[in-house]
Amino acid sequence: MNEQYDVVILGGGLAGLTLSLQLKNAKPDMSILVLERRETEAATAAHKVGESTVELGTHYLREVLNLKGYLEEHELPKHGLRFFFKSDTKEDIASRVELGPRLRLPVPSHQVDRGTLENYLMQLTQQKGNELLLGAKVETVDIQADNGHEVTYIKAGEAVTVKCKWVADASGRASVMKRKLQFQKPMEHHINAVWWRLKGVIDIDTWTDNTAWQSYLEPGLRYLSTVHFMDKGYWLWIIPLGSKNTSIGIVADPAIHPFETFNTYEKAVEWMKVNEPLPYKMLVPLGQGDGLLDFKILKHFAHHTGKLYSKDRWGVTGESGAFLDPLYSPGTDFISLNNSWLSDLILRDLNGEDIEGRVTIYEQSHLALVDSWIPVYQNKYQLMGNTQIMVIKIFWDWANYWAVPTHLFVNKAFTNIRLLKDLFAAKDSLGRKFGQLNKTMQDLFLEWRPFENSTFSNRYIDPFDLALLRKFQEDIEVQHEPAALVEQIKKNMHILEQLAVAIFRHVSAEVNGTSPDIKVNPYTINLGKQDGAMMLDTESEEAIEPDAYIMKDVDTMWFYPKA
Ligand SMILES: Cc1cc2nc3c(=O)[nH]c(=O)nc-3n(C[C@H](O)[C@H](O)[C@H](O)COP(=O)(O)OP(=O)(O)OC[C@H]3O[C@@H](n4cnc5c(N)ncnc54)[C@H](O)[C@@H]3O)c2cc1C
Repeated sequence: MNEQYDVVILGGGLAGLTLSLQLKNAKPDMSILVLERRETEAATAAHKVGESTVELGTHYLREVLNLKGYLEEHELPKHGLRFFFKSDTKEDIASRVELGPRLRLPVPSHQVDRGTLENYLMQLTQQKGNELLLGAKVETVDIQADNGHEVTYIKAGEAVTVKCKWVADASGRASVMKRKLQFQKPMEHHINAVWWRLKGVIDIDTWTDNTAWQSYLEPGLRYLSTVHFMDKGYWLWIIPLGSKNTSIGIVADPAIHPFETFNTYEKAVEWMKVNEPLPYKMLVPLGQGDGLLDFKILKHFAHHTGKLYSKDRWGVTGESGAFLDPLYSPGTDFISLNNSWLSDLILRDLNGEDIEGRVTIYEQSHLALVDSWIPVYQNKYQLMGNTQIMVIKIFWDWANYWAVPTHLFVNKAFTNIRLLKDLFAAKDSLGRKFGQLNKTMQDLFLEWRPFENSTFSNRYIDPFDLALLRKFQEDIEVQHEPAALVEQIKKNMHILEQLAVAIFRHVSAEVNGTSPDIKVNPYTINLGKQDGAMMLDTESEEAIEPDAYIMKDVDTMWFYPKA
């Protein structure tokens, strides 16, 4: 055990362990100490949430950290996100509107048992030469940018102080640095969650006798999806785990489903009986006896941060920074972005580079990204009982996620200062327009809600039947030179703008009776229901109309008769 390190990482969860690997892979002679307060190895199955990965985080784990072999051997391949919407006949799963991929997907993702994964990462980081101490609770951090920081932890009742050049706070919700330096920031998104793990495999294909419905997908593929049962104010997840157990969770808006109605296992069972009778019938018997592995609750899980990286050689990563919402499983994505920015700063600093400018740009980019993501979730739980809106919103959210941030991450754009400036610096830059367009569309979904009240049934939507979505997903891993990447993002933004107009045409024709062929500037889209008048730009050069193939995709997602 040394007394002096290049980097001390506070917390050995997913963020801390992956950061230790990313740093060590890049600079094998770097000395790294990971301090983890848990005394023992993580429990299998009943350890933590964060069990479903999506494309950006999967790329990080598989390609950046080179964990492909481990993930393929020990964790499950995932068959996308799958949604079952509100229905009059919730007891019959086959009659619910279902949205999810049918055929095997070109881009991988995984269902991970967090206990198995973290135990493997602990072993791997030590094999690579990093030091990891279990049962080491960080007590104080004394930041001394020039002389080396001092970190004091307690292990087996004794206080030990070590010195280091860099401190990386990966302590999760304990948020050691945030509490010490008081950079907490409220997040106006107050959603609650409970989750539990059940012993054994749960395959929703067996929840009906309808063989036509069962055989629509290859056997076992529905089982491998992250399943969401959704209705007004909530979603309920079912995630299969490689340890042959199953994770279940309820995530709900307290304005519609007060936390007190489901914050114990017994209450969650009663809540399911009322809101999701089929999961109630199928899951409750499995939770009897030793079938129930754990039950956890988390109130108001969303939190923001005022700071992320400092030129004084410290940074925060993972949940010790910001966390928004688990819908679409983006937790690992944010860890991937966060670790990539932080490790880049540490490496450059240890190589003698002046990092002050980068610290500012990375922090601004990171905070801007979190802020532009907030409208995806904020006030959106009230839409979850509106099937038509949610289907279109999910289509929109996936297109955005694949077309811009995921593609930029895979192309290492977030640590390329020149690219960041090209993409985000100017007021009319592509990056800023991306945020504005997303906000415009998220507001449209809210404005549409009072006019959309139908219940639908007996429909299956495969997102990969949509040419636009399929192409965005297939292209995620395509590598570009920086100039070509900017061109590609420009093209993708143009497609998103057309998609916005195509969606607006349908919604506005339905709500306001406007022409289904209307041309419009996508950045002015609104239904005029908030301010009393539709302030649309339909005349200027920025008013556009979508290509036929984009209209066709939106038609596929549109349940009402076409105008
Ligand atoms: C309801 C819900 C569902 C989610 N579902 C998903 C999902 O499907 N997919 C996904 O990608 N993400 C998901 N997430 C997010 C995911 O859980 C987090 O992104 C992830 O667990 C954060 O990892 P972390 O390493 O930052 O924190 P943690 O995993 O909490 O690790 C922090 C570590 O620091 C240690 N520690 C704390 N204080 C100290 C101290 N003083 N000294 C030493 N050690 C300390 C802790 O023991 C812990 O091991 C979900 C989140 C929620 C709330």
